Amino acid sequence: MNDSAPDSDNQRPADRPGAVTRVTSAMEDYLKAAYRLEQDGGAVTTLRLAEELGLSGPSVTNMVKRLDELKLVVHNRYHGIALTAAGKSVALEVIRHHRLLELYLSEALGFNLDQVHAEAERLEHHVSEELEARMEQVLGFPRFDPHGDPIPGRDGELPRIDDNALDSLAVGEAGRVSRVSDRDPERLRYLFGLGIKPGSHIRVIECMPFEGPVRVQIDDNEQLLPYSVAQLVRVETDGEPLPANPVGT
Ligand SMILES: [Zn+2]
Repeated sequence: MNDSAPDSDNQRPADRPGAVTRVTSAMEDYLKAAYRLEQDGGAVTTLRLAEELGLSGPSVTNMVKRLDELKLVVHNRYHGIALTAAGKSVALEVIRHHRLLELYLSEALGFNLDQVHAEAERLEHHVSEELEARMEQVLGFPRFDPHGDPIPGRDGELPRIDDNALDSLAVGEAGRVSRVSDRDPERLRYLFGLGIKPGSHIRVIECMPFEGPVRVQIDDNEQLLPYSVAQLVRVETDGEPLPANPVGT
């Protein structure tokens, strides 16, 4: 992986001459997870990072220490873990690979949408600049992956999407499905089976209390969605955003 010019702008910070270590796949996963948690809001703690990665506390503590030494994160006792600009740019680069791969796998290679996330998780660490550029070109410079998540630009620019979780919508609210979470292939398959995918039109008909099921109209059909499935769907609402449903915290 030593094929780029030493002064290339695209080089990751820790790859630069004089840096002690290159950024490993494991480090990339940590930075990506930290980025995701930062986006979700609240302080990024070792505990949250361990949960997100499905790893034990002590191994996470060690890795965070290494990332701090490489100046990819800053770990502060009181404020938790924050990505540095360099750490954030590594995270966005991996996310860009992941989302381009998902789209390439589904559009060019015919993979089912519930399969592409797992494949992309493995491949995202091994994409060269050239492969990235070719996938982007073949796909026509796409802005969204097949789950509706935005693909960061080459410059790391990420369009903001103004959408809401389906379980936070009020009865009667309607809109366009913007994204479905790619994390759970079984639930994803279930959603796609009901016709709920990015672009579908959806309206909330009834919300059962206490995190009960949500009845929706999807295009012309009525469906009852388990709460755990409704949580995975995000919607760009048609009208004025209404206050969040207090039940769906
Ligand atoms: Zn994915």
